[in-house]
Order: sequence, then C-alpha cells, then structure tokens
Amino acid sequence: MTAEVFYDDDADLSVIGDRKVAVLGYGSQGHAHALSLRDSGVDVRVGLPEGSKSRPKAEEEGLRVLTPAEAAAEADVIMVLIPDTVQAEVYERDIAPNLSRGDALLFGHGFNIRYDLINPPEGVDVAMVAPKGPGHVVRRQFVDGKGVPCLIAVEQDATGGAQALALAYAKAIGGTRAGVLKTTFTEETETDLFGEQAVLCGGVAELIRAGFDTLVDAGYAPEAAYFEVLHELKLIVDMVNEGGLSNMWYSVSDTAEYGGVTRGPRIVTDETRAEMRRVLGEIQDGSFAREWVAESKTYEQFEKLREDQRNHRIEQVGAGLRDMMPWVGRAAKGGKTA
Ligand code: NAD
Ligand code: MG
Ligand code: MG
Ligand code: MG
Ligand code: MG
Ligand code: MG
Repeated sequence: MTAEVFYDDDADLSVIGDRKVAVLGYGSQGHAHALSLRDSGVDVRVGLPEGSKSRPKAEEEGLRVLTPAEAAAEADVIMVLIPDTVQAEVYERDIAPNLSRGDALLFGHGFNIRYDLINPPEGVDVAMVAPKGPGHVVRRQFVDGKGVPCLIAVEQDATGGAQALALAYAKAIGGTRAGVLKTTFTEETETDLFGEQAVLCGGVAELIRAGFDTLVDAGYAPEAAYFEVLHELKLIVDMVNEGGLSNMWYSVSDTAEYGGVTRGPRIVTDETRAEMRRVLGEIQDGSFAREWVAESKTYEQFEKLREDQRNHRIEQVGAGLRDMMPWVGRAAKGGKTA
C-alpha cells in the first residue's frame, strides 16, 4: 500500500474561503495554523479559555480571540489543537453544543476519534490535517513560501466535501506545497503512538540509558560515556534524517560501520522485535489508550516515572557538560513533535 499524494493543484483554496474557521488552542500547532490561515485570506478566529496564557500572544498578532465555546458557535469549521488529554472534555462542554449540520470538525492527531473519546454526531464532517513537523517549522516554512508535508484523513464525510475541505485547509497552511498524504485516523494514530513509544522517544531513551549504564558500570568516566552515547546522537540522527541509514553508514568510519552492522542486531534482538509487536498490539487493541486516559486523570504513576527519568545519573552529568558547550541550545521553543 502506497499513500496517495496531493499538491497545490489538487486543492482549491476557495473551498475554505467561504467558511468561518475556529482554531481551538494556540500552542505549537495552533499558532502556526491560525497565522497561516489568516495570511491565506481565511476568516479565522482563535478559541482559548479566559485567562489562558496563550491569549495575549494571539491578540498581539491581531487575531480575534474568543472562548472555545464562542469560537465553535461562530465557526462552521472547528480545528481542535488543544492537548489530546483535554479534547474530550472541551468537546463535550464547548464544541458539541455548538455543532450544526454541515459543520466540519478537524483534528491534528487522531487519538480522540480513533479511541472513541469523541463521538461526533452524524451530519458533521470529521477530518484530519496533521502536519509532520513541529508548529514553529510549519509556520517558518509557510512564511518562506514553502511548506511541511501533511497527512489528511476523512473519518466521516457527511457533506461529500470533507476531503476537499481538508485539502483546502492543508493548502492554506502550506502543506500542499510540500505534498499531502492521505491516511486514516486509525493508521495515523497507531503509527504515531508506535513510533514514539518503540523508537523515537521510548526506544531511544532506553537505548541511551542502557549504553550509559553499561559504560559507567564498567568503570569508564560518566563524562566520556555521555559524549559517546548521548551527545553524538545528534550527528548521527542528522545524517539519517538527511540521507537515510545509507547516508549514515557512508559517513561514519568503516570501523563504525562494520561494528554497527555486526553488533546492532545483537542489541535489537528477536526478543526486542517480539516486544515491539506486543507494544503495537496494546495500541491496536486500545489497552494503551485506556491506560493513558485513566493515568491522565491523576498523573500519579506518571509523575513517579518522570522523577526516575530526571534522577538518572546521565542527567546530572549531562547538565554539567552542556554548560561547557553553550552552542548546544535547549530544544527550540514549541518544538514538541511526537
Ligand atoms: P500545545 O500543548 O503546544 O498547545 C495547546 C494549546 O491548547 C495551548 O494554547 C493551550 O493554552 C490550549 N489549551 C489547553 N487547554 C485548553 C482548554 N481546556 N481549552 C482550550 N484551549 C486549551 O499543543 P500542540 O503540541 O500544538 O498539540 C495540539 C494538537 O496537535 C494535538 O492533537 C497534537 O497531537 C497535534 N500535533 C502536534 C504536533 C506538534 O508538533 N506539537 C504535531 C502534529 C500534531
Ligand atoms: Mg458552529
Ligand atoms: Mg565516538
Ligand atoms: Mg563508511
Ligand atoms: Mg504523538
Ligand atoms: Mg508523531
């Protein structure tokens, strides 16, 4: 299965030109969408609670800011860009009472629809426009006349125009300049969760910690261990990002390449791959989502796990070493992506 791809010529901006759009949330994604929609000539308002710290930022940009309920009532296209864990509550309280037949409900990630935490009524279009990059990159690329690739998906096509609307929205934020890939809420949600759990966040963090512990337990200096298993990761990731794994293998020494291709498969073993399938199974059968929704009510267990992560000795060593390297900046503001 290969995804269908759409470009500028496949999308008609006038489809969203006649609509009133509400962007709920003004964080990483929300600010990028709202500003680029406005610059594309779309009638946009931002929905934020009274007292939200994001309010002054949106107002300084000259955007109209209403409460989420007011914005949803006024608009006929509602894009939900608030944290996944609060979407269901905001939907019930502020969005559902303000949905009319023919309105469109849009998402930047499929979690709440995929796991039935939000169940929109018939008669409403439900679609996704999910840029594959953090909000500040989405905005920067748009301003530079380029764009970040987006995924679109249609969960419910009540009007017959849901896909055309999603494409028009993607065009208005620059996505079709780069290419828009068609997916489903299920595929986007499950692959996103799997990627962040098994590889990008969970897998990489454990690999770093295990490598660091192995070196330090064997008597090597923690500082040396930090450089070898954490600091240099960025160089490797940049090579992979720019030219795939082949580019990385090409760029490292033959010693690193031979050692890597012979030892790597001894680190990620058949047992690791079997565990990856179990992790994927928990995503597919909804048990991860149930666990996370329950945990997100208290954060009790989660805070302990966060504490453990913060207290690992690699974090103390790293803080000291990064002070010696002022060019190693903190992650760009609003740089969340997973
Ligand atoms: P964020 O945490 O950066 O911003 C959330 C915004 O929602 C803030 O402006 C906050 O003030 C507001 N907010 C919080 N609670 C609210 C409430 N009760 N009512 C109204 N507004 C409220 O969020 P984000 O990272 O931009 O994520 C938004 C959505 O985009 C999520 O579905 C996420 O999965 C998806 N997404 C994010 C990225 C990314 O790079 N960050 C990429 C693709 C998709
Ligand atoms: Mg409405
Ligand atoms: Mg080295
Ligand atoms: Mg080489
Ligand atoms: Mg994610
Ligand atoms: Mg992701």
